[in-house]
Amino acid sequence: MSLTAIGFSIWLATAISGNIIRLPFYKDHYTNAVKVSKKDFSEYFVMSLIAVGYVLVPVVWFVSDILRAYDRQQNFTAVCIGAAISPLSLWLFYRSHSDLKKQWSPSLEIRENHELVTGGIYKYTRNPMYLAVLIWSLGQALLIPNFIAGLAALFSLIPLFSIRLPREEKMMVNYFGESYLRYKNKTSRLVPYLF
Ligand code: SAH
Repeated sequence: MSLTAIGFSIWLATAISGNIIRLPFYKDHYTNAVKVSKKDFSEYFVMSLIAVGYVLVPVVWFVSDILRAYDRQQNFTAVCIGAAISPLSLWLFYRSHSDLKKQWSPSLEIRENHELVTGGIYKYTRNPMYLAVLIWSLGQALLIPNFIAGLAALFSLIPLFSIRLPREEKMMVNYFGESYLRYKNKTSRLVPYLF
């Protein structure tokens, strides 16, 4: 098996596992009524770009020759680091879903009886799920030896961090007021103890 095939298999296993991890949380999402929704054009833009960067571009690279001109040489170290950080991203992805429980939503929404989660992994960072997808996309860059397909996920995170994240924090401040501001002062935005 070539290094490219090994790297791609790890990437695929990570993508499938991430979606399986999320599945049970959709149940609460669909049964718990929405109180505030900020699901507008910018939200659809952010989510569509993520689907393109994380799924569409890597799959196009794998099944066709369109992006072959941008292939790079795969190397053992890149595959090893990618293989090490991908499970880390899955663990963080799982922890953030299980700590948010019925507060989780794939979009910007406040649910009925929404509680502010400040414990578990949310004690160390306010955005562990976004940190998980950032690590996941670094894994993609290392595991897929193509400059476009590898970097597509990282690129698709630009609107997530520049548009979605500030809007989400604004929504939380508007809804939870002082309690969110107090929580914000005590935690890192993304990387625990750093920033
Ligand atoms: N940005 C967070 C959550 C992503 S899921 C993370 O990266 O882990 C998005 C939804 O989670 C938002 O619509 C919001 O309603 C909810 N949310 C975000 N932070 C929360 C918190 N600390 N407590 C409760 N709900 C939260």
